Amino acid sequence: MVDEYVKDNFERPIISLRITITNRCNENCIYCHHDGMVSSKDEMTPDEIYKICQIAKKLGVKKIRLSGGDPLVRKDIVEIVEKIGSLDFKDISLTTNGVLLEKYAEGLKNAGLNRVNVSLDTLDHDTYKFVTKRDYLDKAKTGILKAVEVGMNPVKINMVVMKDLNQNEVKNMFKFCKDNNMVLQLIELIESENCDDDKFNAEYHYPLDSIEKRLIDMADNVRERKFMQGRKKYYINGGEIEVVKPMDNTKFCANCSRLRITPDGKIKPCLLRNDNLVELISHIRNGESDEQLEEVFMKGIANREPYNT
Ligand code: SAM
Repeated sequence: MVDEYVKDNFERPIISLRITITNRCNENCIYCHHDGMVSSKDEMTPDEIYKICQIAKKLGVKKIRLSGGDPLVRKDIVEIVEKIGSLDFKDISLTTNGVLLEKYAEGLKNAGLNRVNVSLDTLDHDTYKFVTKRDYLDKAKTGILKAVEVGMNPVKINMVVMKDLNQNEVKNMFKFCKDNNMVLQLIELIESENCDDDKFNAEYHYPLDSIEKRLIDMADNVRERKFMQGRKKYYINGGEIEVVKPMDNTKFCANCSRLRITPDGKIKPCLLRNDNLVELISHIRNGESDEQLEEVFMKGIANREPYNT
């Protein structure tokens, strides 16, 4: 089964596994949706995360992404990546705010991490402080440049675009990325239970359609990424911009090839739902066989259905 993808009941292949390894974070972003996770204090050990990846690999998963909270607040992050690295996946990546990246970039690269996405919405200190409630812009920038220096490729910068907050910084951010061989990912703000919904979204939501129109005019080339929910990539003057639109659409669901794991070890079949999680970690802690664990995984995959049809 190794070279084939397992497919769900809707013929969608399961290509990647996104593991939220902690809910803890060293920043407190005003908009954070916590990757749709319900808060929990329980965390998995490196060996448990390794076991999950091992089963996923057997089922044909090719890519692992670690997320959080912030994955780098875990002191055992290098050990976690090292263990996953030994499984020879096509791609191992993580998403971080970059604050601790200077400390860990080299170790992570040596442990087998291929690439990072770093969330950075602004190059302005006051805006950074307003968004993250922390004064870590310089640390984040140093971490980002360290990731480039140690050879992670690509380093992608996740920029959530917000009205009257950082919408005018897209050009500057693109220059910063292009100058340092990084890809800029523009992300449209989505509503989050974390925020005082209506007010927050109404105040800061900035539709990326208008930016995309300008990008089409400027781009030397445009590509669409099928298994990345039809995301568009714009190549401009030797630089690269990707646009991440909201997920509440049929295309996002039709092309979804991701399975998720919550910090407390549950399979999460859909980003947008928490009512169909499948308990996994207790099966590992009970010492069940790989075949039994594969069955639990298959239950999670069987629970997958497009949220928007
Ligand atoms: N702490 C890590 C970080 O800062 O990248 C990983 C977790 S964070 C939840 C993952 C990504 O989700 C970040 O790129 C962040 O910008 C994005 N994100 C969080 N809340 C969002 C929202 N309401 N709308 C759009 N993107 C959001």
